Amino acid sequence: MRARLAIDGGDPVRTRPFPTRAEGMGDAELEQLTEVIRSGNLNRVGGRKTAEVERAFAELLGMRHALAVTSGTAAIHTAVAAVNPDPGDEIITTPLTDMGTVIGIIYQNAIPVFADVEAGGYHLDPDSVRSLITPRTRAIIPVHIWGMAARMEEFLEIGRAGIPIIEDCAQAYLTEYDGRRVGTLGTLGCFSLQQSKHITCGDGGLVVTNDDGLAERARLFADKGWDRTGEDRGHAFLGMNYRITELQSAVALAQLGRVKEWVGRRRALGDALTRQISGIPGLHPPATSETSGNTYWFYPLRIVEEEFGQSRDWFVRAVNAEGIPAWVWLRGGPLYMYDALRLQRTFGTSHHPFDCACASRRIDYGPGLCPNAERTLEELVCLTVHEFYTESDIADMATAIHKVAEAASSR
Ligand SMILES: *Cc1c(COP(=O)(O)O)cnc(C)c1O
Repeated sequence: MRARLAIDGGDPVRTRPFPTRAEGMGDAELEQLTEVIRSGNLNRVGGRKTAEVERAFAELLGMRHALAVTSGTAAIHTAVAAVNPDPGDEIITTPLTDMGTVIGIIYQNAIPVFADVEAGGYHLDPDSVRSLITPRTRAIIPVHIWGMAARMEEFLEIGRAGIPIIEDCAQAYLTEYDGRRVGTLGTLGCFSLQQSKHITCGDGGLVVTNDDGLAERARLFADKGWDRTGEDRGHAFLGMNYRITELQSAVALAQLGRVKEWVGRRRALGDALTRQISGIPGLHPPATSETSGNTYWFYPLRIVEEEFGQSRDWFVRAVNAEGIPAWVWLRGGPLYMYDALRLQRTFGTSHHPFDCACASRRIDYGPGLCPNAERTLEELVCLTVHEFYTESDIADMATAIHKVAEAASSR
């Protein structure tokens, strides 16, 4: 007889809690932090840790320049500012991402133009991007979502016409595309050190580039336009203060020492889960580390209701009842469905830059704009896979998913 689902009062597959990431933070971080505190200097100016993080990260990726800033959002804002769009210029990106991808675009008075993702997929569709390019297109921001690489060769091809490509790698440390690491392929690469990312210092971000001019603009922008080489401040152009502190950099430096090992672990575990749950009707695992360079920020799964027999939300409830963490990401839909964008709530009573005379056309957001992204988010479930999970944690997840799927198909 089939085992009764926990959601129907049966015994759950798993009663022990899953490992947390707390053990990823410890003595190495404390040692670095202690050095900073004892030095009495917490600002990057006069300190050493931020410079060390930048050197180590540039070296890890084989890039000429890395700049550490206060968040992934700040990293993308800084990259956009380095590219220096004119007000009303357009930047094409995906609506299936974190709000941090678009905030900096709007703060630089540019307009996010959302291209759709591939049908049944997670990444920007190059054809959709091509169809939206205008003389006002100033950059394209592909997002390597969940740790899987976007179709970079197509975006680089589009970029050859003179459009900078800014890679959003917030979820994709050490993800590989065609044997090369993401963040090193486009004009600029942006990373996040926020708590949930592969490595963290609470909040922080990194920008990498091989372009000396862009690196210099990025550095000035994130430091109030302050030219620290001269006798006076210079203030060459309008910037922000996105300086990360030595405290954050101390932690980031320690974390950086483990990123390769952790990513290797995530790859092995994520791929193992995919092997164990592939072939279930209506349940679509993500591409593996071999086919997409996947480094598994989280583990996305699509539940196609017509094939699966039950809804996505039922799946989440049933799996949760079995003791397996699973949740819905962006329940509200693609980014443009959220009030800040849909209603273009920006500055004061205006909708700047959307209603600015500087814009060459009216951009409206709302349901139906990117049907594939909307569909993907309706089908999406997130599972956790991280470096402190074990093979037996993965086996429990697979057992619960099989149990739930068998019940779903026969209900
Ligand atoms: C986390 C994230 C950001 C923003 O980073 P923060 O450090 O949270 O500001 C941007 N893009 C993506 C894809 C992210 O996952």
